[in-house]
Amino acid sequence: MRPRANLRLPARVRSTPQRRAGLDAIASATGAFTAAEIYDRARATAPKLGLATVYRTIELLRRAGSVRPLAGEGRPAYVRCRPGHHHHLVCVACGSVEETELCAAPPAAELARRYGFAADTHEVDFYGTCRRCA
Ligand SMILES: [Zn+2]
Ligand SMILES: [Zn+2]
Ligand SMILES: [Zn+2]
Repeated sequence: MRPRANLRLPARVRSTPQRRAGLDAIASATGAFTAAEIYDRARATAPKLGLATVYRTIELLRRAGSVRPLAGEGRPAYVRCRPGHHHHLVCVACGSVEETELCAAPPAAELARRYGFAADTHEVDFYGTCRRCA
């Protein structure tokens, strides 16, 4: 089990019971999650929570780098994220997400040389089955 992420909203964002419930639900998510799942879970403690607040909370966390969207197909899913360069191993069977430091992306210098492209960042996530589901 990964340690629970310490999620905080930017200081200028007012903390409300609804936002707090959304944050708690995201913090306790064990793998990939959707906004609708967070909404369902958080409404148990904050019945007045709106789906728009959940989206806004996820967006704030995304900008802070604590949450990242997964490419996925169909429904947009997110994962909790920590700072630093890494990629995700996403299990399509159970939804668990593991982080890996392994990175085989071409160096920015090679992209610049071959394509004249100035790469700032890249995103790579792996989809498959985890060791428990394989
Ligand atoms: Zn991550
Ligand atoms: Zn799995
Ligand atoms: Zn990388």
